[in-house]
Amino acid sequence: MYDPLVSAHPGHGEPHTSSYWAASAGIQPEDDGPVRGATEVEVAIIGSGYTGLTTAYFLAREHGIKAVVLEANQIAWGCSGRNGGFARASGGHLWPSELIAHYGKSMARAYFEETRDALKTLKRLIAEGGIDCDAQPDGVIKTAHLPSRMAGLETEAQLFNDEFDFPVETLSPQALSHYHKGNEVYGGIRLPEGFGMHPLKLAWGYLRMARAAGARVHPASPVVGWERKGGRHLLQTPGGVVSARKVVIATNGYTSPELHSALRGRYMPVYSQIIVTRPLTAAEAAESLPSSDSMIDTRNLLHYYRRLPDNRIMFGGPGAISGKDATHPRHKLSLLHALVNKFPALEQVTLEHEWGGWVCMSRDGIPHVYEVPDSPSVYCASGYSGSGVSYTTVAGRRLAAMAAGNPDTPPTPLTQTPPPRFPFATFLRLGQHLAYQLYRYQDARN
Ligand SMILES: Cc1cc2nc3c(=O)[nH]c(=O)nc-3n(C[C@H](O)[C@H](O)[C@H](O)COP(=O)(O)OP(=O)(O)OC[C@H]3O[C@@H](n4cnc5c(N)ncnc54)[C@H](O)[C@@H]3O)c2cc1C
Repeated sequence: MYDPLVSAHPGHGEPHTSSYWAASAGIQPEDDGPVRGATEVEVAIIGSGYTGLTTAYFLAREHGIKAVVLEANQIAWGCSGRNGGFARASGGHLWPSELIAHYGKSMARAYFEETRDALKTLKRLIAEGGIDCDAQPDGVIKTAHLPSRMAGLETEAQLFNDEFDFPVETLSPQALSHYHKGNEVYGGIRLPEGFGMHPLKLAWGYLRMARAAGARVHPASPVVGWERKGGRHLLQTPGGVVSARKVVIATNGYTSPELHSALRGRYMPVYSQIIVTRPLTAAEAAESLPSSDSMIDTRNLLHYYRRLPDNRIMFGGPGAISGKDATHPRHKLSLLHALVNKFPALEQVTLEHEWGGWVCMSRDGIPHVYEVPDSPSVYCASGYSGSGVSYTTVAGRRLAAMAAGNPDTPPTPLTQTPPPRFPFATFLRLGQHLAYQLYRYQDARN
């Protein structure tokens, strides 16, 4: 298992992880095959997830630059091919009260508007590209998993309404039961914008759009060496050297320590685990998730779940701490236990898929789109902290403008700086282990 804090690079031509998405996505649109021989380009993009592919698309469409995308494995092999497929107005994991406390009302509001713009851009790209990604109707619910968590949710709903002009509804336990049956139903809040979709189909749609606009997208082309010579970047791949005037790093949580020294300690890959059940019967669906809204709960180690178009339940949550331990069955069993605990009606349900991936956390909980320190002509976006499905559209558009030499002016300066480093980066995993113990204790206390 690739572990971004330990392994030298993510592999070479690895197939997609076995998942419900890989099993149901159909056939990948054509790509450009691995790099063969030496190539010269204006912009090379490392990584073919949403960030890399939208950057390539916007570079071609808005700046007339036909970039080359280099992917170590199959297209969208990282987070973009394996996430939960929740798209919402968010760029990180901070809620209104935290945004306002950290940045003040006007900055928090401008940042939230940018995340709404990201969601709108995502919808526009899906429409423009005719991407058939099984998008479900809008609606995101955060549920109070304990009675004591409802007061905090009411505060967030009020801030959404009063400070962000965003009509969030507070749901009593009775109102929640129209969307969510079972246990842990002490009320919730419902966001009117945000939807679930098939993440790999979305990535493949972007692949088609980027190539149709003129970009070349090369799978099985890991960047395994990087030299600077005569104002150019020489990126070494197994099939040949790509010489570029500018480089975009779009490797996010799958960035290895070897890729660029200035990125070390600026991101924290956290493993998230997903399980998918067999299709539910109509009675089981009615007794668990009667609606297709996207659900998240109030745990620190949160559960995210929704009913898929074919009536399966996708249920995600915390997984292993290290790559070595990631495939241990106890992680999927612990999620199954949590699922049945929420929905006793699913006691007999069986699992058909399980997988996981590295979510990229930033220290301050918001994403960053920036020029890499001491590396002019190298740009990077990372740290979506579990909310990259929509925010990568804004990041891709901004990275394209930076690499084209026409940087735009984002609505806030918050996300333009390099991500702050984690203190004691060598002890990240130990810190995570201790934090998980504390979170489990807090999550169980009313
Ligand atoms: C289990 C899970 C669930 C998630 N659920 C959600 C969700 O529901 N909603 C949401 O908004 N977000 C979610 N996320 C996060 C979201 O998927 C990411 O924020 C988003 O996909 C990031 O896209 P990206 O293009 O920046 O990075 P990625 O999609 O991770 O792409 C990075 C790519 O870089 C490649 N790469 C790395 N090193 C090299 C190299 N040296 N040479 C060439 N290529 C290289 C990797 O192979 C990888 O394909 C989830 C993530 C996980 C893991």
